[in-house]
Amino acid sequence: MSNKKNCWTEKELEILKTLYPTGGCNAVREYIHRSENSIWQMVRRLGIKADKSVLSENAKKHNAEHDQHGENNPGWKGGISKNKYHYKKLQIERYPEKVQARNLLEQAVRCGKIKRLPCEVCGNPKTEAHHEDYSKPYDVHWLCRKHHNEIHKRMKREMRVIEVLGGYGVKGCAAV
Ligand SMILES: [Zn+2]
Ligand SMILES: [Zn+2]
Repeated sequence: MSNKKNCWTEKELEILKTLYPTGGCNAVREYIHRSENSIWQMVRRLGIKADKSVLSENAKKHNAEHDQHGENNPGWKGGISKNKYHYKKLQIERYPEKVQARNLLEQAVRCGKIKRLPCEVCGNPKTEAHHEDYSKPYDVHWLCRKHHNEIHKRMKREMRVIEVLGGYGVKGCAAV
């Protein structure tokens, strides 16, 4: 039996090391076409540790009655959200364009210049605005909380892949 199939390329290993800790097996499989088993084997062989959010993702799959406290709560932001003012200040310092775009849009919605629409994915009327480009504050996609989170998780992963692969191909959002 040939062993070639088991040989991982440097790039695959880089992607594994980068994505697995935060994205788990599913994130890795978006970029590496290998079976879940062979990914887990490699994770074990390299001793890659997943962080808590991934572990809790796995736990969720197996445990329907999993609780929503602390780190398992999707709204948890590393404890920062306890102090809203501090969190907002951090956001302004780190992402001035983002805050500006959000404020401009908020105002436009309040004035009725822009209409809030249902989620583009599932039709949920409770939506948040998603900016692809913060330099175009009125150019937004309306998404429910769930689908908005999903798109940002995905973007984060793609940004990491861009870093690993040296910056070609994937079109990312300026957002974090
Ligand atoms: Zn939705
Ligand atoms: Zn967004």
